[in-house]
Amino acid sequence: MRRSKRTGTLVIISDDTKGLYRDVWKNGVLHYTGMGKLGDQILEGNQNGTLYYSDTNGVEIHLFEVMKRSIYTYRGVVKLADKPYQSTQPDDNGNMRNVWVFPVKPIVEDGAIVTKQLEREIIKLSNEELVKRSKMSQADRKPQKTETIVYYRDPYLKEMVKRIAEGQCQYCGAEAPFKDKNNEPYLEEHHVKRLADGGSDTIDNVVAICPNCHRKIHVLNNNTDTILLEGIAAQNVNRLKRLLAYEQKTLK
Ligand SMILES: [Zn+2]
Ligand SMILES: [Zn+2]
Repeated sequence: MRRSKRTGTLVIISDDTKGLYRDVWKNGVLHYTGMGKLGDQILEGNQNGTLYYSDTNGVEIHLFEVMKRSIYTYRGVVKLADKPYQSTQPDDNGNMRNVWVFPVKPIVEDGAIVTKQLEREIIKLSNEELVKRSKMSQADRKPQKTETIVYYRDPYLKEMVKRIAEGQCQYCGAEAPFKDKNNEPYLEEHHVKRLADGGSDTIDNVVAICPNCHRKIHVLNNNTDTILLEGIAAQNVNRLKRLLAYEQKTLK
């Protein structure tokens, strides 16, 4: 494990080729063995402690895996999936001892593993270096199992917010870019506070926006957009009331 105090990151390396630590993947969670080659592993005064308290100390953990000698595969940012626990494994002299095991899993946003720091590094590489690294990671492309949590989304709510939007993106105001198979203007439903973060599937938390704006909002994920969208979603409550009042009038 390597810690950078400057960037607030901790790099952990799961090395299959060394054979000392017995790290295993179970259901998308890596059970990562802490540091310390001889005797019982301890939490104090080393990076085991940094990892142990990573839920609260603000340190970002980056995982690399080594499956073939000297080929490091970046697995992105990970976090503790469960409480670290103690187990027994042989040490470097073959004596059984207590180790700390840290269950960690990659942070997945929108189906993609978070690799922000790596992306920042990649854009600075020379073309030659880029080709070289690409070849290295090709050599080691194993399929990975990931767990996806699927949240229920009310299909009626989706139609409701689209009716309120009346064929225009609620973010940029542009006309929907095309008509869907039902000949309806194509807009996408977006939850301002994500369902995964405890956001509700209700009219005051959804907006109907064009696919370009939708991508932009997720890619940039910035506060200004969120504040704007919160305002729009809050107004959707009144827009729905007006829609219902209008229907009442026209039915009479
Ligand atoms: Zn738009
Ligand atoms: Zn969205």
